[in-house]
Amino acid sequence: MKVLLLSTYDLGHQPFALASLAAWLRAEDADVSCCDQAVDMLDESAAKDAGLICIHLAMHTATRLALEILPRLRQLNPAAHICFFGLYAAANEAALAGFAPASAIAGEFEAEITKLYQRLAGGDQSAEQDYSAIISKDKFKFRQPDRSGLPPLDGYAHLKIGDEKRIAGYTEASRGCKHLCSHCPVVPVYGGWFRPIPLEVVMGDIGTQVGNGAQHITFGDPDFFNGPAHAERVVMALKDTYPDISYDVTIKVEHLLKQKRRLKLLKDTGCLFVTTAVEAADDRILDILAKGHTRADFIEASVLAGEIGLTLSPTFVAFTPWTTLEIYFDLLRLIAELGLVEQVAPVQLAIRLLVPDGSLLKRHPEMLPYLGAFSPERLSYQWQNPDNQVEKLQMRVQALAELGEDQNKSRSEIFSDIWQAAADALGIASLPPALTLPQSPVPCMSEPWYCCAEPTEAQRARL
Ligand code: SF4
Repeated sequence: MKVLLLSTYDLGHQPFALASLAAWLRAEDADVSCCDQAVDMLDESAAKDAGLICIHLAMHTATRLALEILPRLRQLNPAAHICFFGLYAAANEAALAGFAPASAIAGEFEAEITKLYQRLAGGDQSAEQDYSAIISKDKFKFRQPDRSGLPPLDGYAHLKIGDEKRIAGYTEASRGCKHLCSHCPVVPVYGGWFRPIPLEVVMGDIGTQVGNGAQHITFGDPDFFNGPAHAERVVMALKDTYPDISYDVTIKVEHLLKQKRRLKLLKDTGCLFVTTAVEAADDRILDILAKGHTRADFIEASVLAGEIGLTLSPTFVAFTPWTTLEIYFDLLRLIAELGLVEQVAPVQLAIRLLVPDGSLLKRHPEMLPYLGAFSPERLSYQWQNPDNQVEKLQMRVQALAELGEDQNKSRSEIFSDIWQAAADALGIASLPPALTLPQSPVPCMSEPWYCCAEPTEAQRARL
């Protein structure tokens, strides 16, 4: 049976989930083709011929984009079973059920989709039921991802260090997360469950991508230090096997402090930067989001990383129902004081809290006064900041960040524009601070990390 694996957007990476699923289905002799609409047009003949179409919904943006192409897919192939998989598959059951016959599998998808394929290929009529959704945490034996048939790595986001560009690959060394942050889409699916991926599978996938030209690897684990000893083995093996390959990881503030003795190892094994989800610098907001760190912890982690020479790349949920103009301006001031301006992607200063269905926040007593109706079009609950000036500032910051990127302004220049907008909103005369620029260019990806944004016009146009 022919199977089409489809990704709409995976944060600028060659889609790991498609490669992993392809390995499982090809082991069953399935005739698998992969289409990544982030870089390619829809393969219409593959869509027409497929008996099973699997669509990866890794995040909000990917899900919104998938909803835009689904009517066309159904037009091309009314009979194919569509399987939605990934973090956002089960949470968006209501929006996806209209595309039956379909199923949604969140969490550990490979073994479940393989079973579905076997049933469909074997003519099991019950597999073609209208719609079903499950969350799986089955502990299957991992297979090395099969990246054949995916677009080449140089078509994806690359690592930038000043004018230097490095082709980037992407892999994962673990699944799930041990933590329960209230706003995080990982939590409704994994609920504190975490599992390392065996070293040989991780290294095999890295080896394939190095063979395909990768000079840098992004580890996309929700948190690289959920299993610190495993993480240590992975980076030491990476350094031993591919001493010239650099990498980046995502680690929460709490783990940066608890595992401070391991940070030097990251630096010594080629880690160029650590993405860390700071989200806010206000302790009440951090408490509502159950982040497990405080403002003081963020400051300590930033100083610690600076001492070691490890670049931190903080991400934020800058606008929440609890954000005031003063809280926002204080966040900007802290970023400037810590010397992090060049390390923060400007879009991070505009991110608005997303509350998808399944989010723990939808029942949080601090959220309830602000929570509006669920929007089926936006796939999230609407909310309004009680101060309309904050809403206006969010839109202004978003526009400044987008305009600045279009005009190739530096992060410092965009930060100054945003600072001015925030000072104007507060009605204070405060010139942007004189910023100390880092002595060497800050490494970053050519596509900034954010998973909760609405699709851009450019992304829609590609579809
Ligand atoms: S925000 Fe990060 S640390 Fe918190 S639950 Fe999500 S993945 Fe885990």
